[in-house]
Amino acid sequence: MSQSFDPDQIQLPIGHFIGDRLLESPGLLPLHRPSDGAHYAACPVASAETVDEAAQTARKALKTSNWGGARPRERANVLKRWADLIESEAETLARVEAISSTRPVGQLVAGDIAVTAEQIRFFAEFADKEGGDLVPTDDAHLGMIMTEPYGVVGVITPWNFPVNMAGWKLGPPLAAGNAVVLKPSEMTPFSSILLAQSAVKAGLPAGLINIVLGDGPTTGAAITGHPDIAKVSFTGSTGAGAAIMANIARTGIKPMTLELGGKSPQIVLPDADLDQAAAAIAGGILANAGQACVAGSRLIAHASVAEQLVDAIIVRMQAVQAGPTWDTATTYSPIISEKQRSRIHRIVQAARAEGAECLTGGEPIEAKGYFYAPTLLAKVDRSSVAITEEIFGPVLTLQTFTTEDEAMALADHPTYGLAAGLFTRDVSRAMRMTRALPAGTVWVNRYGRSRDHILPTGGYKHSGIGKDLGREAYHANRRSKSVLIHIGGLS
Ligand code: NAD
Repeated sequence: MSQSFDPDQIQLPIGHFIGDRLLESPGLLPLHRPSDGAHYAACPVASAETVDEAAQTARKALKTSNWGGARPRERANVLKRWADLIESEAETLARVEAISSTRPVGQLVAGDIAVTAEQIRFFAEFADKEGGDLVPTDDAHLGMIMTEPYGVVGVITPWNFPVNMAGWKLGPPLAAGNAVVLKPSEMTPFSSILLAQSAVKAGLPAGLINIVLGDGPTTGAAITGHPDIAKVSFTGSTGAGAAIMANIARTGIKPMTLELGGKSPQIVLPDADLDQAAAAIAGGILANAGQACVAGSRLIAHASVAEQLVDAIIVRMQAVQAGPTWDTATTYSPIISEKQRSRIHRIVQAARAEGAECLTGGEPIEAKGYFYAPTLLAKVDRSSVAITEEIFGPVLTLQTFTTEDEAMALADHPTYGLAAGLFTRDVSRAMRMTRALPAGTVWVNRYGRSRDHILPTGGYKHSGIGKDLGREAYHANRRSKSVLIHIGGLS
C-alpha cells in the first residue's frame, strides 16, 4: 500500500552552513516543486565574501583539528560514524530530498541515501590503506614519494541526484585529509546542508564541511576562482565545465575533476538476450526520467532484432507510475523544471519535424508538476539535435545497423563519451567492441552502476576530466611530494 506525506509540513534548512552554524540568508531564487509546480521556498545566493568566509573557516578548521596530519584511522572512524548517522536519519533526509528534487521518496532510503552512506564508508577505508612509497635508489639515499592533502577543496554539484552527488564528492576529499566548501545546485540546495549537519553531529570537526548556496555565475565562480581553494571537483553540464576551466585559467592554476554530460549508446547485437536487453535499456532511460548523466539515450539495434526489442521497451515505457515524489508508489520522476520540460519537448518536436517517427510518448504528461511521457523516436537523422545534444529527459532514439562497423560508427558520438551499453552473448565480440568504444564506462549485458564503488566513473571526450569513485577519486585528493634523503655512504 502506498504512503505519502504532506510536503508543506517539511522544514527546510535555508541558509549557508559555515563552521557549525546555519547562517540564515534571504532567499533570492524562487523554487518550485517538480512534482506539483508549487512555489515552496527560495534559494539564497552566497556572495564572494560569503564564499571567502567559508574558505577561511575551512582553512582554520584544518589547522586547529590537524585533520590532514592526524592518524588516518581517526579520519576513517569519524567518516564511518557519519555514514551510520546518515542511515539513521535517512527518513528526514529523504523527505527533504523528495520535495525539492525529482527523486521519488520510495527510491531514496534504500537507494540514493543507502548508497551515499556506503560510498562514504568505502572512501573512509582508504584513509589508512593508501599512501606514499619508498622508491629504489642507491645505498647512500632514501627515496620516497610522500602524499599530502591539498587543503581546501571546492565541490560543485548538480540537481539530478543531490544527496548521492554530494556524498560521493565529499567522501574522497575528507578521507584524504582535506576540508571542503561545497555548493549544491541552486535547484536542490537543502539536502547537502542536512548531510553537513549530520557530519558535525558524528564528530567531524566543525568547518571541515561548509555549504554555500547560490548560482553558478556568482557563488560557483567565487569558489572556482578563490585563491585558497586548492582544487575543484565539479559535476554538471559540459557548458558549465568549460566555464569553470576558463575561470580557473583566468584566476590561477589548480587541478580540477570535471564529470560532465553524456549521450550514451546502447548497442544490441543480433545474438543478445532481448528480454534482458529490453529491461536494461528501459531502465537506462527511465531512471530519474532520463535525468542522469549516464542515461542510455541512444539505442543502436541490429536491424534483425530492432522491432521485437522496441516492442518490449515500449511496454515498459508505458507502464511507468508517475506521481508526486512524496508518494511511495511513485516510480517515475518529474522533470526538474518547466523550463527543462519545454526544452525536452522542443527537441522532440524538432526531431519529428525532420522526419523522426514517434513510437510512444512525445508529449508532456497532463498532470500537476512537470512530467514528460517516456518517448521513443525512430528514424532519427544522425545530425538531428535529438542525437547530437544531451536531452536530459526520458527520450530514447533508435538507430539500426547491419554490420559491427556501422554500429561502432553510430556509437562514436562526436562530443560525448561517458558510458555505453553492449548486449551480446559472444564474449570475444563483447571484449573487442568494449576496447574500441570511446567511453569511460562500458556495461555489458546490463546498464547502470552497481554498488561496486571500486569502479571509477568519468568520461572521455567532452564528458569530462578525471574520475569519481574508485581509487582514482581518493588519489585525486592527495598530491605527491618526491623526497630524496642523503643518508651517507656513497656520495
Ligand atoms: P549545470 O552545469 O547547469 O549545473 C551544475 C552545477 O554547476 C550547479 O551547482 C550550478 O550552479 C553550477 N554552475 C553552473 N555554472 C557555473 C559556473 N560558471 N561556475 C561554477 N559553477 C557553475 O548542470 P545541472 O543542470 O545541474 O545538471 C545536469 C548536468 O550534469 C548534465 O549535463 C549531466 O550529464 C551532468 N552530470 C554529470 C555527471 C557525471 O558523473 N558525469 C553526473 C550527474 C550529472
